[in-house]
Amino acid sequence: MENTKAYAKHLDEKDPLASFRHAFLIPEHNGISRTYFLGNSLGLQPRKTSAYIQRVLQQWQDEGVESFFKGENPWLNAHDELLTTMAVIAGAEKEEITIMNQLTVNIHLMLVSFYRPVGSRRKILMEAKAFPSDQYAVRSYIQHLGMNPDEIIVELESDQLSQVLEQEKIIQSIQQIGDELALVFMGGINYYNGQLLPMKEITEAAHQAGALVGFDLAHAMGNVSLSLHDWHVDFACWCSYKYLNGGPGAVAGAFIHKKHHGPDVTRLAGWWGYKRNERFLMESRFVPERDASSWQLSTPSILLYASLKASLDIVHDADWEKMLAKQTLMKQWIQFLLDQQEQNYFSCITPDSRGCQISLLFPQNGKKVYDGLFDKGFMVDWREPNVIRFAPVPLYNSYSEIWNFFEALKTLTKELSSHHTD
Ligand SMILES: *Cc1c(COP(=O)(O)O)cnc(C)c1O
Repeated sequence: MENTKAYAKHLDEKDPLASFRHAFLIPEHNGISRTYFLGNSLGLQPRKTSAYIQRVLQQWQDEGVESFFKGENPWLNAHDELLTTMAVIAGAEKEEITIMNQLTVNIHLMLVSFYRPVGSRRKILMEAKAFPSDQYAVRSYIQHLGMNPDEIIVELESDQLSQVLEQEKIIQSIQQIGDELALVFMGGINYYNGQLLPMKEITEAAHQAGALVGFDLAHAMGNVSLSLHDWHVDFACWCSYKYLNGGPGAVAGAFIHKKHHGPDVTRLAGWWGYKRNERFLMESRFVPERDASSWQLSTPSILLYASLKASLDIVHDADWEKMLAKQTLMKQWIQFLLDQQEQNYFSCITPDSRGCQISLLFPQNGKKVYDGLFDKGFMVDWREPNVIRFAPVPLYNSYSEIWNFFEALKTLTKELSSHHTD
């Protein structure tokens, strides 16, 4: 690789996914496209989203409630139409996935089914730096059971210096807690430093200890390669507005491994999880469908399904394997450019095990760098007190944008350090 604009352009010209940028609406600044590196926060709007939503509005207008059953795209099929692509991205079987609710709601629903404390086996292992909503969900659920979260949750601290949570440390903790461990619940990718956790190894170790394992995949789904089924993960949940581009508050997803689809698994029930072909018999006793959709409670939002379908259709057209290949090459390109930077102004706290997101820690002036980047048209993310996160994604970002970003970073940090020494 070469640290030149020409080389960046060369990578763009060879990029088989380059044209997919036009499938998205890119925010502009004075008539010029911004560089949007916030796919880890809210993915961009597919051009087709409004047409997909419009179609639902039209059906509603033309046929009213009959639209659930009638026409080319009956609403009753809307859920299943999302599963093929979602299953490819998740590395799961279609019946192991259901698209419902929002992420934090689904965490609660999964805890109902998969946090089943028995005797002294009642501990939950989490990251100390888990996303706040995950912490609130787990703590409040434990309280709801009449127990004390401080006695239940074991928090794993990442290394003070490197900010990385080492695999060895995770596995050792699992073994140490041993037969007191009921559940491991962690983020597949940490939202803060972008670390991709070794989910396969964590799952193996937890199962050996006799515990269940769930992952919050908010930052992993649509970002990195997953094999939830083959890893034997018990459950997972994610939101669809980050790397999946489903839109703000998009309908979320859950994975429940096939081995847990039996009727004896405790779950909160609603009529939308009832055995599909008998749902409208309106029987009073709940009989679950024998797949992940039995965790559904309510009539789903067909508008939100349409929005998610628009973005998953792009993944289908682009091909998930090609997206992963581009993500890998982008990662190498970023690492190469990062290694060329004088890193006395900031340090990269994202380990090599990662997806699209990089987190840079600025001991000083981080906010000024962030503001400077924004003025130059770069949309990245500022995390108090001193971290800039950015996430170039395969579908709508280019190698040139990454190169330009590092050039801007170089200029800005140079300016700021010369002010500093003046
Ligand atoms: C984004 C994110 C959430 C947000 O939850 P919502 O219920 O969708 O608002 C929760 N957990 C993690 C790890 C996240 O990254």
